[in-house]
Parts: sequence; C-alpha cells; structure tokens
Amino acid sequence: MKNYHRLDEIQKDLYDHKITCQELVSHYLENIKRNEHLNAFLEVFESEALAKAERIDEKIKDNKAGKLAGLIFGIKDLLCYQNHKVSGGSRILESFESLFTSTAVQKLLVEDAIVIGRQNCDEFGMGSTNENSAYGLVKNGLDKSRVPGGSSGGSAVAVQMDMCQISLGTDTGGSVRQPASFCGVIGLKPTYSRISRWGLLAYASSFDTIGIFSKSIHDNQIVLETIAGKDDRDATSSSQEFSIKESTKAAWKIAVLEEASNQEGLQSEVNDSLKVTIDSLEKTGNVVNRVNFPLMDYVLPTYYILTTAEASTNLSRYDGAHFGHRSAATSNLESMYKLSRTEGFGDEVRRRIMLGTFVLSADYYDAYFTKAQKARKLIIDATNEILEKHDFILIPTASTTAFPIGKHEGDPLAMYMSDLMTVQASVSGIPAISIPLSKDKYGLPIGMQIMSKAFDEEKLFAISKHLLNE
Ligand code: GLN
Repeated sequence: MKNYHRLDEIQKDLYDHKITCQELVSHYLENIKRNEHLNAFLEVFESEALAKAERIDEKIKDNKAGKLAGLIFGIKDLLCYQNHKVSGGSRILESFESLFTSTAVQKLLVEDAIVIGRQNCDEFGMGSTNENSAYGLVKNGLDKSRVPGGSSGGSAVAVQMDMCQISLGTDTGGSVRQPASFCGVIGLKPTYSRISRWGLLAYASSFDTIGIFSKSIHDNQIVLETIAGKDDRDATSSSQEFSIKESTKAAWKIAVLEEASNQEGLQSEVNDSLKVTIDSLEKTGNVVNRVNFPLMDYVLPTYYILTTAEASTNLSRYDGAHFGHRSAATSNLESMYKLSRTEGFGDEVRRRIMLGTFVLSADYYDAYFTKAQKARKLIIDATNEILEKHDFILIPTASTTAFPIGKHEGDPLAMYMSDLMTVQASVSGIPAISIPLSKDKYGLPIGMQIMSKAFDEEKLFAISKHLLNE
C-alpha cells in the first residue's frame, strides 16, 4: 500500500472501495513491525485497532462513518486512554492504567479515527532527544545514529516512517516542533488553551499544550478542528472554536528575529535555509523585516525556572501512595515517599524536581520564581508588540539538524540550550508551527518555525501551505 500524504486521499480510496480500513491498519502495523528497532512505540493496540477497522468498514458501506474514518493515529505516552497503560515514559507509572480517556483522544475516536498505539517519549516530557525515556531511546528513522528530537520523539518518528497517519504529542517548550524539524514532518503547537489538557499528564501546566504531527497541513487542520474547543473539565480551555476556512493568499508582513539568526552555534545550512525562505517570501509579494528582540537571552532561563517550579508541584502526586510505583524496601511513611520517588524517577526528572523545589523555596522564591514571572510578562509583551506590526515571526525551529545520539550526555545545560528557538512561543502562549523546508548535506531535514498571534492558527496554516506548495 502506498504512503498516503493526506487523509482526503485515504478517504477517496476508502469510499471508492479501492482499500479497506482493515488493510490500512495492517499496512501501518507492518511498518511498525519493520521499524521496531527505532523504538517509537511502547505498545501497539493491534487486535483492537483491527477490530475497530472492521466496524468502520461496515459503517463506510452504510454511509454512516464519522468525518475521520480512515485516520489512524498514535498517542504520546502522556495522554490517557481508558483501560490502557499510560506511563509518561517513566518507571514510576510502569503498570499504571488510565481510568478515563483524554478529551483530545476522545474527540478523535468519536469521529471514527482509530488509535494504533502508545508512543515513546522523554520521561514526563522532559528532554529534547528522547534519550530520557525509562523504556529506551528512540532512533531517527533517517539515520539510526541520530536522535529524533524530543520529548515527543516516538510520535515524530511514527509519522516520519508511516507507522500512522498523524500523532498527538505534547509541546511544553518545543516537544512537537523540534522533533518535527529533526524528522522532516509537520508539527503544530497550537495556542495555549486551544485544546483541553484533560487527560494529559501534567509537566508544567501553564505551558503544556497538545500538539499535532502530520505529513500535510490539510490533516493538521482537520485534526485541530476536531479536538479544539471548550471542555468543562479543563478550566483553562478556551471557548474559541477552530474551523477550517479556505486560505486566501494575502501579502503578509513577516518579522525575522536578528538575535535568532545570529545565534552562536547556528548550523550554516540552517541559516541558508532561513535566507532561502525569506527570499521566496519576498519574491512572492510579502514584506520581510529584520527585527530586534533583545529579550532573547532571557527566554530560556525564564522557561526553565517556571517549568521546573511547576513540575516540582505537579510531580508531587507521584509519592508511592496515590499512583504507580511503591518501593518494596520502605520501613515508614517518609522512607516510602523517598524510596518510591528515588526508584521511580530518572535522573533528569529528579534534577528538575530539585531545581523547581529550590526556586520555590522561601529564601529564593522572589529571586527566581517571582523574577521569572515578571520576565515572562515582558517577553509576552515584547512578542505581542512584534505581532501587532507583523502577521508572523519566522525563525528556524532548531539551531541544528538532528545530532548524534549521546552528543549532550552528561551536559544538561547544552541540552537545554538546544531549546532556544522553540521556547519563545511557549513562554508567550502563542501558536507556532514547524514545517520541513530543506535538507543539510547529509540529507537531514531542516525545519522552519512560524509563530503568529494567539488563535491565529488559520493564518499559520495559510503561510505553511504557501511555503510547502500544498
Ligand atoms: N525540551 C524541553 C524541556 O525539556 C521541552 C519539552 C517539552 O516541550 N515537553 O523542557
């Protein structure tokens, strides 16, 4: 079976009776098997997906299928799916089964999409390479010696290698966009609050956003349209609906941040790709301005102070009593807490809990946490000011293409630095998309990132279609 680019192509063949949903699921299952060594899936729902496909084939015959019939998707191991394991890539939740389904997954299922499996990720979404999973690292399908990016590495590789048509990942500081860039697929982080976080294991609640990996903008739009909107179970979810409109080509005004394109460590081919993108935008009637963003140096520290603080609070629920792992070696209540958490969490998660606890401690609260909150407000205001005068901000998604596995081993700071380009949209809560626009000399994909005002995803899709010729 061919590697379908868009859902409407799949649906055309389904309704013309050229293929069946069961054949489609079998095709992805074969690809999952063939690519087992990449470690993208932690669990495959083989018999369930095939049984569901049989039912949907019946519905198609009766013309009663939902709008996403034929869409086979995977979910990052941070999204709950009732009566299925969800572990957050962590030992602490190794045998934990979810009692309910996350709103985003549920909304896809209602429209007859089929979930094919649970995808590997960095533990609780903390990481940029998928090397922090308790269940082994994920390899990039284009070069097995390289990382796929993270934390949603399994979800990106699954779409890259046609193991499913789309994946739901999560993006707190770049975890959908950066792996999309490293794997050569499309990755959307919608506006914060666009999609309900109900059923998403929390990392940093004021940043966490469900995001969508796809091969086409068309599929990304239709999935966003289905899963966006108000949910009474998430008080922060927005009531703004998202509906697909015909994209009309406009003459856009685009800001390119000087500080991002002058970054130390920016791979020359990434910079070249940015220049080519700018040229092509200018040649097609758009205005591109080079703009200064002096706060660039503060974005990463602000992100890491606030997210570790929120993580230390959110992860306090994993205490050996409420969920998941309880140490067998405990002698009293305190040792149960300590040992369960020490045995259950990996190094990076422990580091972040300690950092977060430190910045929230009474003596340092004002020096770090309060200051970072103020910095966040300044970053939001400065970003919005640029977006008042421009339709978009354009910068590379990452400074480099996918790097070798183990490159930043033992150097957490170097790892944090690799998030430099993606955290601005996360701190500001605005939408951002990564689209694959070129390749480096090794054939590794280079992603460009476009940001827009909050709730302007439709415009992001329009410029992406323009740049991708979709
Ligand atoms: N790499 C970033 C971090 O480790 C982003 C992670 C994410 O978006 N979940 O925090």
